[in-house]
Amino acid sequence: MTTGTETIRPPHDTVWDFPGIAARAARTDEEGRMPPQNWTEIVESGYLRLFHPEEVGGTGASAATQAAALEALARACPGTYWTATVSALLCAKLVFTYGDTERHGDLIRSLVEGRRLAAFAVVETTAGSDASTFRTTVRPADAPGGGFYISGEKSRISNAPVADVAVTLARREKPPGDDGPDWCLAFVDLRQPGVRRYDIPHMGLRGMPWGGIVFTDAHVPAADVVPVPFGELAEGMAWGWLKTSFSAIAIAESALDASVRHAKERVSFGRPLAHMEGVQAQLAESRAQIDAARLLARRALHERVAGRSARDLIAKLKIYATEMAVGVVVRAVQIHGAAGVTRGHEVERLYRDAEMNVIGGFTSNRLREQVAESTGLGPAVYAEFDWVAPAGLGRDPSGLDGP
Ligand SMILES: Cc1cc2nc3c(=O)[nH]c(=O)nc-3n(C[C@H](O)[C@H](O)[C@H](O)COP(=O)(O)OP(=O)(O)OC[C@H]3O[C@@H](n4cnc5c(N)ncnc54)[C@H](O)[C@@H]3O)c2cc1C
Repeated sequence: MTTGTETIRPPHDTVWDFPGIAARAARTDEEGRMPPQNWTEIVESGYLRLFHPEEVGGTGASAATQAAALEALARACPGTYWTATVSALLCAKLVFTYGDTERHGDLIRSLVEGRRLAAFAVVETTAGSDASTFRTTVRPADAPGGGFYISGEKSRISNAPVADVAVTLARREKPPGDDGPDWCLAFVDLRQPGVRRYDIPHMGLRGMPWGGIVFTDAHVPAADVVPVPFGELAEGMAWGWLKTSFSAIAIAESALDASVRHAKERVSFGRPLAHMEGVQAQLAESRAQIDAARLLARRALHERVAGRSARDLIAKLKIYATEMAVGVVVRAVQIHGAAGVTRGHEVERLYRDAEMNVIGGFTSNRLREQVAESTGLGPAVYAEFDWVAPAGLGRDPSGLDGP
C-alpha cells in the first residue's frame, strides 16, 4: 500500500521469528517442560492476540499474518506452539463462539493477553474417540450463590497440569422438564479445591505439559456452563484441527530443511548425498507434499478468518498434513542415517513430535469418517457388537472395565 513515496506497512506485516524459543527447543525437549522465557517471548511478540477482534483484546490480524505467525512459532518449538495455541486460539475461540462476549469477555481477554492459560478438556480415560463413553457431568450446586458442580476425569489433555482454566465438555444432569442439550461446555477455574491434576509423560511435543484433570464437585458459576448440542461442537473444534495442521507443516518444513543441509554436507561414494538421484527424489517428494499441505492450510485459514466454516476442508487438511509430516520426517531420518536416530538429533526430536499430531485433537481415522460422510456416504454405522461370537472376544467382557 503506498501514499506518494511513503510505503505504509499493513498492521502485523512483520517477519515472525522466535529466535530465543528456537534456540531453547532442544533443551525444552530434553527437560520436558517449557522454559518461562518462552512464554514471555510469546506474550511480548503479540502472537496470542492475532486471532481475535479488538473487542476482546485481540488485534484481528489477516489470515496471511496468522498463517505466518502460526508456522513461525511451530518451527521454533512445536511443543511450545501447542501450549500457546491451544490456549489463545482454540480455547479462546471456543469461549468466543459458544459463550458470550459480555459475560466471558474478561476470560477471553485474559487468554489473549497471556495472563491465563487454558486447556480444552474433552477426552476421558475410556476410548477418547467415542464420546458416548464420557462420564464427566455437571449438576446444579446446592452451594450459596447456586451454579453447578462438575465431577469426572479428563485425561491426555494439553496444558492440563499447569492451566488456569479448562474449557470442559460435560454431560448435563437435567432437571425434569429441561429439554435443552444433553451436553455443555463448562469454563472451569482449575485453581480450586475440587480439582486435582497429574502429568502424563509423553513421546513428543515435550515442551507442552500434558496430563489429566480430576474434578470432584468443583464449582462452576452458572454463567460459565453453556449448553451446546453435541453435533455443533465440531465447528469450534475445527480450530484445533487447523492448529494441529500448521504444527505438522512446520515440523515437516524443519525436517526437510535439516535433510537438505545434511544432503549437501554428507559425502558418500565420492559425492554429496544431494547429488544422488534417490536422495533427490525423496527430497522432491517432501517439498511437493509440504507445499500442497501449506496451500490447503492457508486456504482453510483464509476461509475461517472470512467467517466461513470450511470444516470439511479442515478435516481433510488435518488428515493430509499430519500424515504427510510423518512421511517427511521418516524420510529425513533415513537421509540422516544413524545420526537421525541418535538421541538429541533434531530429526529424532521431530520424528517424535510428528506422530503426536496425527493422534492429538481427533485422529485421522475419525476424521476420515467425517470426510466420508460429507462425500455423501452417510454416517458410519456400527451394528451391535457380538462379544461372545468367535470373531468377537469369545467371552462376555462384563466385569471388565467396559468394552
Ligand atoms: C498431542 C496430543 C494432544 C492432545 N490434547 C488433547 C486435549 O487438549 N484435549 C483432549 O480432550 N484430548 C487431547 N488429546 C487426546 C486425543 O484427543 C485422543 O487421544 C484422541 O481423540 C484419540 O483417543 P484415544 O487416544 O483414546 O484413542 P481411541 O479412541 O482408543 O482410538 C484408538 C485408535 O482406534 C482408532 N479408532 C477409534 N474409533 C475408530 C473408528 N470409528 N474407525 C476407525 N478407527 C477408529 C483411532 O483412530 C485410533 O487410531 C491429545 C492427544 C495427543 C496425542
